[in-house]
Amino acid sequence: MLKLIADLHTHTLASGHAYGTIRENAQAAAEQGLRILGVSEHAPGIPGTCDPLYFINLRCVPNELYGVKILRGSEINVLEGGKLSLSDHIIDYLDYAIAGIHPHCYTILDAVSNTKNVIGCMEAHRKVRFISHPDDDRTPVDYELLCKGARDNGVALEVNNSSVKPPVFRLNSRENYHIMLEKCEKYRVPVIVNTDAHDPSAVGRFDHALEVILETGFDQSLILNTDEKKLMDFLMR
Ligand SMILES: [Zn+2]
Ligand SMILES: [Zn+2]
Repeated sequence: MLKLIADLHTHTLASGHAYGTIRENAQAAAEQGLRILGVSEHAPGIPGTCDPLYFINLRCVPNELYGVKILRGSEINVLEGGKLSLSDHIIDYLDYAIAGIHPHCYTILDAVSNTKNVIGCMEAHRKVRFISHPDDDRTPVDYELLCKGARDNGVALEVNNSSVKPPVFRLNSRENYHIMLEKCEKYRVPVIVNTDAHDPSAVGRFDHALEVILETGFDQSLILNTDEKKLMDFLMR
């Protein structure tokens, strides 16, 4: 079975609609045998999430909890015009940034225009390392264009466990991952598998995403979070 060592997409109470603390998530990560936990609260734009000051002050959190390395990230909204919903000088404080479309704060366009906005966000800040849940036909993307943009910008694409875990709330995610993963192989775009946990009970549990990876026969050498050095080299370049 494919073993993953990091979960870089997790939320805590600070995101406003998640239910654990950083320590509870870290403890869960340790119990699941992870080496690395990324804390990635929602950036402004999602109702009830934290203030930008939260991200600046994350340096107060120890670099290691329960034997798990802690990385400081944020899941930042893709906005119209390919802009990110967190200022550059705040992103500078983070170890990595995630960009993703959330219908709460995005006017949905056609697939090509949505993809251009996502690619704009890849180019907007050098710390954008991957795109969250590019799998939802409620906010469709063009996978050919997306994968070429990811390749050109050295950005990875996520396979999100929450998108394919019942009850499914995103649209056609499984089918879209089949298309996306085929194009990731074609263009040699790296992939990262994350849980998008909103509760400690979900941290480090990738079963549904791994099922999709296995059923597609995807080239596992393109998965970043199978190896600590491979992942850290990608994140900290
Ligand atoms: Zn998200
Ligand atoms: Zn999320």
